[in-house]
Order: sequence, then C-alpha cells, then structure tokens
Amino acid sequence: MSKIGTISKTKSTLDKHDFYIKKKYGQNFLVDQNILKKIVEIPAITSETLVVEIGPGLGSLTEHLLEKAKHVLAYEIDKDLLPILLETFKTDKLTLLDKDFLKCDIDLDIKKLEITYDQVIVVANLPFYITTPIILKIIEESNLVKEMILMTQQEVANRLTSKPSTKDYNSLSIAIQYKTKAVIALKVPRTVFIPAPNVDSAVVKLTVIDDIQVKPLNEPLFYEIVRASFAQRRKTLVNNLHNKYNLEKEIIINLLIELDLDSRIRAENLSVNDFIRLSDVLHNIL
Ligand code: SAM
Repeated sequence: MSKIGTISKTKSTLDKHDFYIKKKYGQNFLVDQNILKKIVEIPAITSETLVVEIGPGLGSLTEHLLEKAKHVLAYEIDKDLLPILLETFKTDKLTLLDKDFLKCDIDLDIKKLEITYDQVIVVANLPFYITTPIILKIIEESNLVKEMILMTQQEVANRLTSKPSTKDYNSLSIAIQYKTKAVIALKVPRTVFIPAPNVDSAVVKLTVIDDIQVKPLNEPLFYEIVRASFAQRRKTLVNNLHNKYNLEKEIIINLLIELDLDSRIRAENLSVNDFIRLSDVLHNIL
C-alpha cells in the first residue's frame, strides 16, 4: 500500500475528502518519506514505547510511529480530520483524541490508556503558531514524558538550543535548558511540506534531565525573573530588574557583586545556573 506522506497521496486524500487546508491551525503536511523515516529514527522507539503525537494531520508521521511503537496517543484539534484519520487507521494501537492539546491533561490521558510501556516520547510536527506554549506545557505539566522530538521553525530550534552570549539566546532557551538537554537533530527544507511554509524547519530533540542538580528555591519566581530580565534585551539586567521589582538599583548591583557578576551585565550573558543563583538571592529579599 502506498504511504500517506507523499505528494500524490496527500493531494488525492485532500481531493477525495474535499478538505481545505486550514492556516489557522498551522497545517503544513509532511510529504517526504525520507524525512519521515529520519524523524522516527531519532528516538529509540521500541515495541514497548508509548508515543504521544500532537497534530497527526492526515497521518503521515502517525503511520511511521505506529510501525515502531506499542501505542500512539494522538491529539488533533481539527474535527474535519477525524473521519479521514479513522478511515486510514483501523487499528487499536492508535488512540485519537479530538482535543486542543493546550487544554488537555496529558498525564491523565496517558493513565487512562491503562497500558504498560517502557517510556513515553512525544513526536510531533508542531503547528508553528503555538510551538512555544506546547513545549512549555509539556515541560511544566508532565512527569511521564521523558523525551520530545519536535519539528519547529529553524528560528525556534535555534532558540531552544542556543548558548549564552549568542543572538538566539533568550528566556525560552533558559526555560528549556533548565529542564532538558536540547539538540538540533535534523534540518528540514520548506519544500517537503504541503503547503510549503515561508521558512525552513528543524527537528529538535529535547531529553528531560532526570535529576536536575541545581534547582531554584522558588521555581515560578525563577521563570518570572528570566522573563523580566529579557523584557528589554538591550537594557542591562539591573535596569530590567529595577523596572520589574521596583528595587533600588544600588541593591541590585550589590546582589550582582555578591554573585560575582558584572554590574553592567545583560540577561543574554547569564547561564541557566547564574539565573538560578540570582533567583535564589532575590527570593530571600522580595
Ligand atoms: N503531523 C502532520 C504532518 O506532519 O503532516 C500534520 C502537522 S501540521 C504542521 C500540525 C497539525 O496540528 C495539524 O494537523 C493541526 O490541525 C494540528 N493542530 C493545530 N493546533 C492544535 C492543537 N492546539 N491541538 C492539537 N492539534 C493541533
């Protein structure tokens, strides 16, 4: 049987079901079998692995995941895609939820499956318009997901994986690298999608760090300080913190000296550990 993720099969499925691609849901369907094979080779999926897919679309990635995994739990917001997916996949290895992923309780949905598994991995060609909220949701809410293989815009992939003092380093880089090891696993040209997006993509591999060595005393405050510190990127850390917390600049400068940091430093020059130390001293005085 011909594969789903090809140009001809995608076009014929769209025609057959009179389906119009919805921009508002970030629909860019993968139509390249080489790329699809490479994506599912990135994680070590075994016949005992539970894979969570966000946005199966027409099922091009789902088809490959079902070949390798024990079970696939897929969330699709577009109700018009459900009949197509149900017609395509007649297997009890797939659980399809017609839900907005951002509104789900992922760990509860996994538990409801009542299956055993060796690991839970998220694999998804993400809708670009909500890439960041999806990643942050998984990182903040799930205790079960241990790895994420995510197709994002190249620019977002750069942010997720960038190091301090580089142009792409921002609050997202810190939030992600505090909880995961982030690497770019594959670069993907825009030509392998229908419709082709305006930018190239990349697949990132995020591996959750099991035992985080250094944790902030107050995690929500840590995230808040990171966001506030990048509020105005060109301003110094002292100015951004002064604006957010209304603390005397003198006090903030003394804190930085205590932490062995330059008083003119900008957020982009601080490592994840620097932010944890900063958040701990601020926790004690705010
Ligand atoms: N996996 C398919 C592929 O690779 O061809 C489709 C990927 S497409 C970039 C993104 C998919 O996510 C679409 O099917 C879209 O309808 C779905 N989607 C968008 N927002 C969503 C949300 N909030 N929750 C679940 N699915 C969503």
